[in-house]
Amino acid sequence: MKDSIVFDADLSPLRGTTLAVVGYGNQGSAQAKILRASGLDVIVGNVRDSYWEKAERDGFKVYDIPEAVERAQGALLLVPDEVMPQVFKEKVEPSIKGKDDFLLDFASGYNVAFGFVRPPSNADVVMVAPRMIGWGVTELHSKGMGYPVLVGVEQDASGAAWERALALAKGVGAIGLPGGVAVKSSFQEEALLDLMSEHTWVPVLFAAIKACFDVAVEEYGVSPAAALLEFYASGELAEIAQLMAQEGIFEQMKHHSTTSQYGTLTRFYKYYDQVRELVEGEAAQIWSGEFAREWSLEQQAGTPVFSRLWRLARESSMSKEEHELYRALKRR
Ligand code: NDP
Repeated sequence: MKDSIVFDADLSPLRGTTLAVVGYGNQGSAQAKILRASGLDVIVGNVRDSYWEKAERDGFKVYDIPEAVERAQGALLLVPDEVMPQVFKEKVEPSIKGKDDFLLDFASGYNVAFGFVRPPSNADVVMVAPRMIGWGVTELHSKGMGYPVLVGVEQDASGAAWERALALAKGVGAIGLPGGVAVKSSFQEEALLDLMSEHTWVPVLFAAIKACFDVAVEEYGVSPAAALLEFYASGELAEIAQLMAQEGIFEQMKHHSTTSQYGTLTRFYKYYDQVRELVEGEAAQIWSGEFAREWSLEQQAGTPVFSRLWRLARESSMSKEEHELYRALKRR
């Protein structure tokens, strides 16, 4: 366990390396600024639009993606996962041809793990995947704090890929600061963990909340506003999540009444086997690449299922009541 957790690293494997941050969005803008503050040489690659202008306003030299990669010895690929395969094939790969030991960094394992991006064998292929949105990264760094990342090495062409990956984790402000930790992992593990949350407890939570709303309103005559405020609109859910992160999933229960603790523990053990079976099925579909193929085909078809399900969700009575309540509360 201890070997897989790293709290600090040496930046020297990246000194003298020009790093191209490709994509100046959520993660790109946050990571580029922190890398520069860490004293590293950073340029930005983007398409010519408002993100390009923002990067220039933030004081970076900005180039079209192929030129930025051409000028660098390493690239942080921070465009959305859906467009990464095409951006990599058309704009990154041609610019690293013939360059030995080029450092390719991904912030998520998905495309490499499932074979949508296949980097050349003479490149170092690493992952520094923040467990946090770009805004959170910036916010913590402004307070002198680090944040958790999963780090992985898919290809070690230079023989120093782990050192370079951990140096990147330090450069982007994840480690070497209070609260920061890098966990040694892999592209495959990161993709599995990321998708497991998205395919299990998040939708099960959404389904449970919607079922609670529907039953309370339709079968017990509860007012929609009371149900929404109880189930999520009050923000209590966010407080519980914060306490889970700070104190632990079971320990935080001490903040709730004993009636609440008894109800939660009895039902937790009652449903565990059923939920575990569901999780095993979803994890198997992720690990085998079945989900990645499903999503790829859905995108190729123009996302008909995705669009229909979004419509269904927006048209549900819960969404309509939420709209009314949020307008009354001036949240919309
Ligand atoms: P964003 O959606 O914020 O990235 C937008 C950037 O990608 C912009 O610079 C945009 O430029 C560029 N871009 C979008 N489409 C294209 C395209 N077709 N060609 C070229 N550039 C394009 O992405 P995120 O920061 O959210 O995600 C980046 C990576 O970080 C992903 O791998 C993601 O999984 C990972 N990650 C994201 C987290 C998050 O909080 N969002 C958390 C942890 C990891 P323009 O619009 O100008 O074309």
